[in-house]
Amino acid sequence: MIIRPPMASYDAVVIGAGHNGLTCACYLAKAGLSVIVLERYATIGGMTISEEIAAPGHLSDVHASGYLVAKLSPSPDELGLAEHGLELITPNPNWAQIFPDGRSFVIGRDVETTAASIMKFSRRDADTWRTLYARFAAAKPTIVRAMYSRPESLAEELGAPHGADGYRFLMQTARNWVDETFESPEMRLFFASAGLHAGLAPDDPLGGHFAWMFVAAIQDVGCSLVRGGMHRVSEALAKVLRARGGTIRTNAEVASIVVENGRAVAVRLADGERIGVDGVIAANADPRHLGLDLLGDTIIGAEAASKLQRYEWGPSFFGIYAALSTISRRASWTFAPGACRRTRWSASSTRPSSIRAALPPARA
Ligand SMILES: Cc1cc2nc3c(=O)[nH]c(=O)nc-3n(C[C@H](O)[C@H](O)[C@H](O)COP(=O)(O)OP(=O)(O)OC[C@H]3O[C@@H](n4cnc5c(N)ncnc54)[C@H](O)[C@@H]3O)c2cc1C
Repeated sequence: MIIRPPMASYDAVVIGAGHNGLTCACYLAKAGLSVIVLERYATIGGMTISEEIAAPGHLSDVHASGYLVAKLSPSPDELGLAEHGLELITPNPNWAQIFPDGRSFVIGRDVETTAASIMKFSRRDADTWRTLYARFAAAKPTIVRAMYSRPESLAEELGAPHGADGYRFLMQTARNWVDETFESPEMRLFFASAGLHAGLAPDDPLGGHFAWMFVAAIQDVGCSLVRGGMHRVSEALAKVLRARGGTIRTNAEVASIVVENGRAVAVRLADGERIGVDGVIAANADPRHLGLDLLGDTIIGAEAASKLQRYEWGPSFFGIYAALSTISRRASWTFAPGACRRTRWSASSTRPSSIRAALPPARA
């Protein structure tokens, strides 16, 4: 017979120690709640882990590596992540693009440096970037506010001034948008490939809007690296949480959420342990896992369960991890002194059609 310790109880249980789960836990602990975070993997971090997968002693950021959108968020400052060990490296230039024929361009620290670099390909495209960036700078407070608010209804979106134009831009594919916005094949390719950072292929809806925001955000705040690896983000969050009395358990897979009389009252771990909660259960897990596995159709209802069952996952990513002893220095990579060592760069062919041709076999 297994004798279990008496059931622990908390004000809040967070399922999953990804950076969003940990951030949620930090705010709950800051509000004075007793909090436990349960993570099924051996380490915290979720898609922000760094592990020795390429060579011993060489850490790779296994999934996320660019600290960008978080720089628009008030959370790192509100939670004091810098005081808990988070240190960012922001390269100059902010980003670089290299082409096989030896040409390149950079997103500099300011819009004029970028425009000067784009000018090598097209004067008109350089002016277009000035306009697009000015549009982002004006819309930035609204964009950031929207990230932390409920989504607008379609009626609200369409009812806003120039709502129909805004909605068209939001839904536009990257290919359609770059074709009508830029004249040089190089800028068309660069902006269309920016959509790939959200898994959006050139002909996927939302690609144009995402590409604009992604590149404008890089122009605005730079795309930082986390000193010591991306996992330092979750480590800093864990320090904040523990300083507020919170608890984190790894190798602790939640198998189900226990609901009694319409209230979530506990979670049950895969090994049978029950952890009680008198307050909040927050799930950092994806909606399908939450709805179908952790709650189940008797709780969420047959209609919602059937919709979740039919939900089709989007394309996945393919990554190659390498531990390099030296960096190859092709002559074409000298777009700025030392840039190939000190910036984020992407390499590609010169035409958007190349992405279109490469994607179907990659997705198959
Ligand atoms: C290849 C790739 C590259 C990316 N690059 C970037 C980038 O450069 N910059 C950027 O900002 N974003 C990037 N992203 C996106 C970013 O990584 C994710 O959006 C972000 O990490 C999601 O965080 P999260 O906390 O919401 O979820 P996750 O990181 O997925 O965390 C969820 C956690 O919950 C745990 N969990 C799930 N179910 C259970 C359960 N039943 N019991 C216990 N634990 C459970 C999981 O193990 C996991 O640790 C990238 C994503 C990928 C895949």
